Amino acid sequence: MRIFDPHIHMTSRTTDDYEAMRAAGVLAVVEPAFWLGQPRTSPASFYDYFDALLGWEPFRAAQFGVAHHCALALNPKEANDPRCTEVLQELPRYLVKDSVVAVGEIGYDSMTPAEDHALAAQLQLAADHGLPALVHTPHRDKLTGLHRTVDVVRESALDPERVLLDHLNETTVKAAKDAGCWLGFSVYPDTKMDEQRMVAILAEYGPERVLVNSAADWGRSDPLKTVRTGEAMLRAGFCADDVDRVLWRNPVEFYGLGGRLDLGPVAAAGALHEGNSVLRGGE
Ligand SMILES: [Zn+2]
Repeated sequence: MRIFDPHIHMTSRTTDDYEAMRAAGVLAVVEPAFWLGQPRTSPASFYDYFDALLGWEPFRAAQFGVAHHCALALNPKEANDPRCTEVLQELPRYLVKDSVVAVGEIGYDSMTPAEDHALAAQLQLAADHGLPALVHTPHRDKLTGLHRTVDVVRESALDPERVLLDHLNETTVKAAKDAGCWLGFSVYPDTKMDEQRMVAILAEYGPERVLVNSAADWGRSDPLKTVRTGEAMLRAGFCADDVDRVLWRNPVEFYGLGGRLDLGPVAAAGALHEGNSVLRGGE
């Protein structure tokens, strides 16, 4: 099993996690910029964080054979703090960096006017930079949030086919699919979405444009939930090709839309030679 985790906050994770992920077949990740739990009080704090996602964290990932790319943005929650919104003006100088493969995570937290503004402005930035966008959908009042998100996407310059709507569940998947967006699911240890429900959604809606992530961060989360979902798919009768599509080819295709994804050595390591992977021992 070769795995690309399309949404994981490695900054919050240990080297044990990198070792376990690589041993289980996680060869590539995208780390979106988000809220650190402790609210930031100045734009400079964001710039140091962006630099860490562009420099230190890819270096750390490389020590474990994991390809690390990032998505950068002003996150929805902190878009509400007027001390932080200057970040929107500074983002263009970060979005041109090679390892930035998307704008994200953007979207709604509490659905405020400030969040409306940040979402629309950053969809425009994605369009201006030829990048796709990773859009977080709210955990509360999910369907209302999804509809409002889709409305803003439709009014934007960014094609829905370049938008990944994340944190979907049974109540929002149909509207997201009908909107023509990519479908992201975050699988957590005990809340929101688990691997059995994920398998049921895949059985109903199919694997096309579906991405599964662990969204692991500083909260209770499990960076191997992608692997567990792949195992649950196989137990439920999906074939290995479906698993590869959801856990590898779909994220490669989505983040490849910006033309910057470079999987170089790890793609070779994850390749199959006459049906065999060099990683078979780790599965
Ligand atoms: Zn996240």
